[in-house]
Amino acid sequence: MKPPAQHIARKRFGQNFLVDDGIIDNIVRAIGPQPGQPVVEIGPGLMALTQPLLERLGQLTVIELDRDLAARLRGRQGLKVVESDVLKVDFTALAAELGVPRLRVVGNLPYNISSPILFHLLDHVDAVQDQHFMLQKEVIDRMVAQPATADYGRLTVMLQWRYAMENVLFVPPESFSPPPRVNSAVVRMLPRSAPARLERAVLEELVQVAFSQRRKILRNTLGRWLEGKGFAGDFDLQRRAEEVSVAEYETLAAAVSAPPT
Ligand code: SAM
Repeated sequence: MKPPAQHIARKRFGQNFLVDDGIIDNIVRAIGPQPGQPVVEIGPGLMALTQPLLERLGQLTVIELDRDLAARLRGRQGLKVVESDVLKVDFTALAAELGVPRLRVVGNLPYNISSPILFHLLDHVDAVQDQHFMLQKEVIDRMVAQPATADYGRLTVMLQWRYAMENVLFVPPESFSPPPRVNSAVVRMLPRSAPARLERAVLEELVQVAFSQRRKILRNTLGRWLEGKGFAGDFDLQRRAEEVSVAEYETLAAAVSAPPT
């Protein structure tokens, strides 16, 4: 274990620093950085992942909101420091600026804004090659959930629509300083192409309505919404939201996005 460096962790920035060398090694191995690859790290903090990544890549872009931490990072050879709120970073523009079609995005994310970060990156998914994130294990369980389970919900559908995902590593609280009160894990997210006719806003609304009362059958929750959209297709509404697969939600949203003329 590394001794924590001289910095008092700021709760409002979700600062839980990795101090377990074995876990750091496993995360870097899961990412598999190769020299020259365009990797962007969200929240480098005290460089637990940054240092080994930089050694393997030769150059690395980091996005850090904490002004003091960003100041410590500046001036290091090969490191491009973007001092900003990650939610304001235009990843599509960043890829263009780095002269690459797609970025590899990694990070031990601040847990207090992990869902907003995931949804922000969804806006830029076409500029992403892959993502490796440390998150609360409970969030990853929801991301990779299967239908007909308690974890299957809005987050599952909205992410599985555009990513193939797997939980690649369990990380216990004692691997951090200070230790978070929850278990953590690392997820790998590989973008996949979406049905061309599907509008994200429509899928979002569909899933929101369907899961608004997840114990009810869809006839009572989604029936009227589909009617309002002029949907005349065949769909079994005697099920509950959690019993409908991601592929079925996609098909339904695509049908409503572009109804036959
Ligand atoms: N990568 C380090 C590690 O593994 O030890 C730190 C991880 S810590 C969980 C989260 C990091 O994200 C902190 O460095 C924090 O300052 C930074 N951060 C928090 N909110 C942020 C935001 N909105 N934009 C960019 N960075 C942020």
